[in-house]
Amino acid sequence: MRHSNDPITLSLFDLLKAGPGPSSSHTIGPMAAGADFAGRAAALAPDIQAAAGGLRVRLLGSLSATGKGHGTGPAVVGGLTGCAPDACAPSLLRRAADPRASLFLTLPKGRNIPLGPQSIEYGPVRHKHPFNNTLIIELLDAPYPPVRTGSDSPAYDAGDKGRRLPPPDGTGQVQACTDAAVDIGNVLFSMEYYSTGGGFIRWKGMKREKQRRPPHPYADMKAFKARCAESGLGLDELLIENETALTGERPEDIVAKLDKMLAIMRDTVLRGCSAAGTLPGSIGLRRKAAVLHERARSLAPFDRALCLFNAYAYAAAEENAAGGLIVTAPTCGASGVVPAVLMFMEEQLGLDLKARRRGLAAAALIGFIAKHNAGIAGAEVGCQGEIGVASAMAAAMLAHARGFSVQVVENAAEIALEHHLGLTCDPVGGYVQIPCIERNAVGAITAYNAALIACNENPVSHKVSYDEVLRAMAEIGRDMNAKYKETAAGGLAVCLVEC
Ligand code: SF4
Repeated sequence: MRHSNDPITLSLFDLLKAGPGPSSSHTIGPMAAGADFAGRAAALAPDIQAAAGGLRVRLLGSLSATGKGHGTGPAVVGGLTGCAPDACAPSLLRRAADPRASLFLTLPKGRNIPLGPQSIEYGPVRHKHPFNNTLIIELLDAPYPPVRTGSDSPAYDAGDKGRRLPPPDGTGQVQACTDAAVDIGNVLFSMEYYSTGGGFIRWKGMKREKQRRPPHPYADMKAFKARCAESGLGLDELLIENETALTGERPEDIVAKLDKMLAIMRDTVLRGCSAAGTLPGSIGLRRKAAVLHERARSLAPFDRALCLFNAYAYAAAEENAAGGLIVTAPTCGASGVVPAVLMFMEEQLGLDLKARRRGLAAAALIGFIAKHNAGIAGAEVGCQGEIGVASAMAAAMLAHARGFSVQVVENAAEIALEHHLGLTCDPVGGYVQIPCIERNAVGAITAYNAALIACNENPVSHKVSYDEVLRAMAEIGRDMNAKYKETAAGGLAVCLVEC
């Protein structure tokens, strides 16, 4: 949660990323960290590679608290095999969860290091690292987990949060566990990663890259509107000019990438609308999208429209919960909202590809400004930053696709977010299922209603700006108790178990 006057320099495709569900911070981010580590390890000096014998991943904070429900372990392991999130097939994550599968970290100048769920250690939920979602990946000179002799106490137990090895002492020598002296060898190379939400990662010691400066700099909505007025450019035209300058890509390539994201989101909804069965995890939650989609046919027009809206959102959110390919918008947990509104725009409102593409650019703008000035991760600001921002993005998308002014786009986003303020992140069992899936449907319909209000009110009579509602969200997020920030330690997550 911060406000920086530095201009926003994110790429559209930093925010709109394709990857496997169910969580951008707990799945896509850790997978990206694993893939980054794999690249660095493969480039280590030959003698270090030759000495390597094992690998340990330590998950801390919310990654430890809800990592199992979110598939964090398989995601890191999948990344360590060298697979990037947008190339990940669900079968890789299934194999990465299987201790018998043959998966390896490839070291060209050394041995291939075996990987699996046994590589993962679930560490303390409370820790002193600068970001809640921290993971530490260590290349060791001995196999991991260590082979125990009969007299050893079980110092390591993946999944048992009560028995942990302490952190390295900073010298590279791993300290002995307090309750058993099990030698896991020396750390040859390690990286401390932070999964900061929306699939973004940072690492300890990361230097700020020298960014190209966008031709139309803005750090908030007020500045963005000023840049539009000065340049005479429309919202999406300005974003494409900035994207071209920041990435060096040609406008036609950027348009093609936006269309690819639209196509992936459409596919996600279609897959979800035809899938049946039970979602992974211990809740035993049955998929509902196909039933809603089928029943919508027999309903009266108004109910039919709402039921289809729900079906589309459920479809994408259920695909996310099942580990399917989704697009973060802005996160995995909230990845059903924008696709649901997009599908509604296409199938029910007849808005063409060009309009939907323009709309998607507006959605990204709203997500950029939220990330820059408040936060988009449940672990940082609660669900207001995920479903709330997704709803704001979708409302802006619809307003812009229908040709309304930037002021109306802003108002639509503001209305949608305003009514999600204070929303906690309390996933039952740590799975991105309850309340997440239903919440995507509610967020999508709120987005539609917010756009409807904004497009039919006098835009200049609107009192609250998007920048102001983001300031409120940041403050609420700061004050929100940690148990309501993706730890599954409070709210619905606890009450449902007690009921
Ligand atoms: S409750 Fe909201 S923020 Fe938390 S995991 Fe679910 S969708 Fe994400």
